[in-house]
Amino acid sequence: MDLGLEGKIALVAAASRGLGRAVALQLAKEGASVAICARNEGPLKATAESIREATGVEVLAVPADVSVPEDVDRLVKTVLDRFGRIDVLVTNAGGPPPGRFLDLTPDDWEAAVRLTLMSAVRLCYGAVPAMREQGGGSIVAITSISVKQPLPNLLLSNSIRLAVIGLVKTLADELAPDGIRVNAVCPGWTRTERVVQLLKDRAARNGTTPEEEAAKITAAIPLGRMAEPEELARAVAFLASPAASYITGVSLLVDGGMYRGAM
Ligand code: NAD
Repeated sequence: MDLGLEGKIALVAAASRGLGRAVALQLAKEGASVAICARNEGPLKATAESIREATGVEVLAVPADVSVPEDVDRLVKTVLDRFGRIDVLVTNAGGPPPGRFLDLTPDDWEAAVRLTLMSAVRLCYGAVPAMREQGGGSIVAITSISVKQPLPNLLLSNSIRLAVIGLVKTLADELAPDGIRVNAVCPGWTRTERVVQLLKDRAARNGTTPEEEAAKITAAIPLGRMAEPEELARAVAFLASPAASYITGVSLLVDGGMYRGAM
């Protein structure tokens, strides 16, 4: 199946590593030019170079912190100055810190709202006028399985990501007449650098091995393993692409069956 992404312009936020990088690489493999951002210039440039080498497409790297409003404005402006359009926007950011209610402060909540919700809101404020003017586009928000099934010790993610889903559903409705589709992808356990580090930390704390810690997690996953980042990236690329032309307002779980609810 041709996804129809050849020659499209995609902006993928928070993409120096992990899910964002996998998504940017997948879109580039499909022939889209990609713009990526992250806070630190060194790793960002290295990722841009590796995607360029692997795919031959143009990759624009813009250092930016998506929780800082001026950075998001500058990011979108830089992409529009360079490419003149944004066909695909993928919102993403680092995860908010873990913690239970009394471990966290109201300031932690406000910082997490800036990181998880307002980054997506501001990226949409940047891209939507351009998409509307150019006659359409597609937005995919990377969220988490926590929007379907709250996860222990992840109060901020469980709470604030639901607001991102509210944004996605409402924008899908509002922007459909402009030819703009808006969807969310909800990863379950995916083996990114962050998750590999988390397994090592848990093993050190519990006197076990990372493999034993992974086995505790995968015991609850019907497919019996974590996802590889590219498995999530393929779902994002499909939803973002013209091949998904009649799909808007969905939250697609990519979780190996871990969520047990019927709907
Ligand atoms: P990661 O830490 O491996 O990568 C995060 C990327 O975002 C990095 O490139 C980092 O530089 C960048 N980044 C972080 N904060 C940023 C900021 N403020 N501005 C710009 N760039 C920033 O994480 P990941 O595993 O790829 O996860 C990505 C998102 O998906 C996170 O929000 C995470 O909570 C969520 N998620 C991940 C999993 C999983 O299993 N990996 C599961 C569910 C949800």
